[in-house]
Amino acid sequence: MPDLKTLTIQELSQAIEKSRKIVIIPHKNPDGDAIGSSLGLCHYLHDKQKDCHVVVNDSAPYFIDFLPKFDQIKVFESDQSTCIDLVKNADLIICTDYSQLHRCGDLQPYVEASPAPKAVIDHHPGPDPNFDFYFHTIAASSTSELVYLYIHDADPGYLFNKDIASCLYTGLLTDTGSFRHALRSETFMVAAELLKTGISYEFLVSKIFDSNTPQRLKLVGYALNEKLMILNDYRTAYISISFEESEKLGLKKGDTEGLVNYCLSINDIVMGVFFHEREKGKTKISLRSKGNFAVNSISQQYFGGGGHKNAAGGEFTGSAQETINKFLEILPQYKDQLSSLEIGQRD
Ligand code: 5GP
Ligand code: MN
Repeated sequence: MPDLKTLTIQELSQAIEKSRKIVIIPHKNPDGDAIGSSLGLCHYLHDKQKDCHVVVNDSAPYFIDFLPKFDQIKVFESDQSTCIDLVKNADLIICTDYSQLHRCGDLQPYVEASPAPKAVIDHHPGPDPNFDFYFHTIAASSTSELVYLYIHDADPGYLFNKDIASCLYTGLLTDTGSFRHALRSETFMVAAELLKTGISYEFLVSKIFDSNTPQRLKLVGYALNEKLMILNDYRTAYISISFEESEKLGLKKGDTEGLVNYCLSINDIVMGVFFHEREKGKTKISLRSKGNFAVNSISQQYFGGGGHKNAAGGEFTGSAQETINKFLEILPQYKDQLSSLEIGQRD
């Protein structure tokens, strides 16, 4: 595949120039980067007098609901006809933070049926070759970093405002786990440029990371006390929440965000996994890893998913326990790799 990044900044910018109605579609089950990058780009396109909307399969987690224009996001699950109309009438569709079309969820048939050209801005490996324009590299920390770089390159001299900066900085913060992973020097350069707009990173950090409800903290306590399993032989730790537990705890979207990171924070653990039976008999799996141990190949091969080398996800038709059983069945084949992995290097 050619270098998609250099190939298409100009082409994408021409496509945007030519379009009046632009629809931005983040991935289903959106996270801070999916929404941050989409809203950031939408603010920019509004500045450029475009009729632009963010349309998403399902709602975003509550801890980013403070982002400017968050309330203007159109959610397919709750407003199908508006979303269908917007997609149908779009001159250009931009998919953000994924590059395999099925990740847009139930919007997929409407996107496929639309004659509008389709663009991707994304940092996940393995982009589907059927899009018309790409601004893509897996080297970027986040799609928000790419949206910044896209605007910076396509529109030199453009003055970023606080609204755009808050959205993009949120994507950077959430996808890097507060600047802990998936970093490169450009990430800090972009963060520095965003901070120059005068946004308060303290405000953003406190909104995103210090907005726990007492109920969510109790969930963390319960998960760590009762549900944390450590497989020392495999340098793996996992937490699971069954459908019954989900119901009993009254979990809502976003409550389980970050739980998987506790697994990885344990000394010498290389792989952390979180199993969440969100619907009866349907379990979402989140995988995280350190160093060169790739979890996206596991999620792709066994759990119909994908993601990055160190952060991936998928789904399994079965209860939490059945999904764990499947995971334990495949784990031995990774034993050597897990045992021999060295985490980072002291320079
Ligand atoms: P999370 O575990 O936070 O849901 O996702 C971690 C990473 O894996 C994210 O980059 C996300 O986009 C990706 N991911 C999560 N679930 C899926 C999935 O079902 N399919 C694919 N292709 N990627 C996923
Ligand atoms: Mn991302």
